[in-house]
Amino acid sequence: MKNFKEILKNYRFTVGKVWKQKFGKPYIIIRSIMTMIGPFVGLAVTVFSGLLIDEITQLHRMNMIAVYVLGLTAIPTVWGFINQIVSYFCTSKMEHAINRAFEAEFYEHCSHLDCDFYDQPELQDKHSEASEVVMNDFIGSVNTLCSFISGVVSLFAVSALLTSLNWIVVAVIFLNVVIEHFINKKHKNKIISLDTEFHKRWRYHWIYSYILDSDLAAKEVRLFQLDKFIVKKITAASEYRDQIEREKELSSNVTGGILSFVSFIQKVVLYGFAVSAVLAQDITVGYMTITISAAGQLFGTLNSFSQMYLNLYRTSAKVQKYIDFMKVCQYQYKTGDKKPQWDSDSVIEFKNVSFCYPGSDRMVIDNLNLTVKAGEKLAIVGENGSGKSTFVKLITRLYAPSKGEILLNGVNIYEYDYTEYQKLFSPVFQDYSIYDMTIEENITLGESADKALVEQACTLSGLGDFLEKAPNHLKTQVGKNIDPEGVKLSGGESQRLAIARARYHDRNIYLLDEPTAALDPNSEEEIYTQFHQMITDRTAVLITHRLSAVQLADKVAVFDSGSVVEYGTHKELYAKGGIYTEMFDKQAKFYRGEASPEILDG
Ligand code: ADP
Repeated sequence: MKNFKEILKNYRFTVGKVWKQKFGKPYIIIRSIMTMIGPFVGLAVTVFSGLLIDEITQLHRMNMIAVYVLGLTAIPTVWGFINQIVSYFCTSKMEHAINRAFEAEFYEHCSHLDCDFYDQPELQDKHSEASEVVMNDFIGSVNTLCSFISGVVSLFAVSALLTSLNWIVVAVIFLNVVIEHFINKKHKNKIISLDTEFHKRWRYHWIYSYILDSDLAAKEVRLFQLDKFIVKKITAASEYRDQIEREKELSSNVTGGILSFVSFIQKVVLYGFAVSAVLAQDITVGYMTITISAAGQLFGTLNSFSQMYLNLYRTSAKVQKYIDFMKVCQYQYKTGDKKPQWDSDSVIEFKNVSFCYPGSDRMVIDNLNLTVKAGEKLAIVGENGSGKSTFVKLITRLYAPSKGEILLNGVNIYEYDYTEYQKLFSPVFQDYSIYDMTIEENITLGESADKALVEQACTLSGLGDFLEKAPNHLKTQVGKNIDPEGVKLSGGESQRLAIARARYHDRNIYLLDEPTAALDPNSEEEIYTQFHQMITDRTAVLITHRLSAVQLADKVAVFDSGSVVEYGTHKELYAKGGIYTEMFDKQAKFYRGEASPEILDG
């Protein structure tokens, strides 16, 4: 019973969602009306064909023969014609519009997921299953509704003919339906569990095939001859899919075989009764065909109820996964509604913040206390893995602290509206993305473009010369996946583009995580000088290994194992003779070519 309630609840959810869409109401209504008419067309054909046989074999009335022939030919033709017109408008237009709306909603949801989604494979499995529901099951649930309506109407239509059926025939039909129902249920259960397994492994297929499909790893694939290794992994995923498909097919075949046998028994009983009734002259040949057809329709109708239940049962399991998926991981996005302010007194404060990534209990940020004050330029330095980039993820609310709190002007950042809060930041991430879009789109990211500002951002980030040479100036496509005339960017150019993007958005706080890692020393110096201008009246957090750039900052925080171990101005820290001094001296020596004796000795 609980199961049935669950099925109904999930079903109401899917049909309700379609109903609420822009074209949902007319779509459901038109399809329902069409479904209601359908069984009567079938019934008319059944009756006309029986009457025609009797007319030909016994009554010989030419006018009635003409009427029946006309009915038999014209009714299905006109109905088919109407069906095609309606299905064009329903299927091609409304259905597509409804599906696109669901798709947009789904992808919007995905883009608001907390970033720890990407750290949790089981959530990614759910995502994969939920995306299938979006593609198939909302409209599928309307189809089920139509099957139900059609079933009920058919039952009424056929009931007019049921008096022609012997009770034994009716009993056999019922028995057949019940047997089929249980056999099919077993089959569907198997398919549900196979599908779950399938989704898990199928993700591996696209994870690995993407390596070979995209230019992401094209160079390494060739130089390390990675292809065979990756192809092996793709093949393993495909073989697993094949195995699951074979298991599904086997289950379908076995089920099909058993069902054919059961249906054979039903037909033997039905024909036995019908033929013997004609031989005993209880009914005419025409009535016999109506009887056989009515029995077929009764079976079809009852069976469609059973199929409908089983479809609902199967869909319900998937829809539940969709519902679960649409509920998870939006802690960040949904928390808070205050509007953040950033003015000259503003401050962001990390108070005893600790953080570990999902699936790990290692605190990569460990009781961290640090403030970012308005107008201040804060440099963060430290060894690889000391938690600098994680700090950026926490301050931007991409991840939530495991302990402690982050305050903006004394208020926990989770009390602020997520999107508004994030609009405080102009980031250049260490692993920034460059998109297959034009240069302008790569900078504005969909915001309406102010050409002068875009050009200014390019000049400030050192892309001026590059832009001059680009064939279509700001409209030049980046990458060659879309346009063969698109430009491929060097590491340095990509990095400058990411900087131009931050500059164009020019928000209150610049977050620059290793923004010059791909630049040569000359460009680096040039960029840091430009940064200096860019951020003069802004707040900036600069993460860098280039300690020469640290001198741009008002304050320096030295990170070690997720905590701030030294804090002060460059001068103070250097004078202190601690970790910072050691790091600075090592780097300065290296730049001057005074490498350590071990290197010089080879
Ligand atoms: P830094 O920027 O100082 O080099 P990070 O903040 O990137 O250091 O990383 C700090 C630690 O967190 C590292 O040990 C890294 O392996 C780990 N780490 C980073 N991202 C993840 C993640 N998504 N899941 C688990 N551990 C992570």
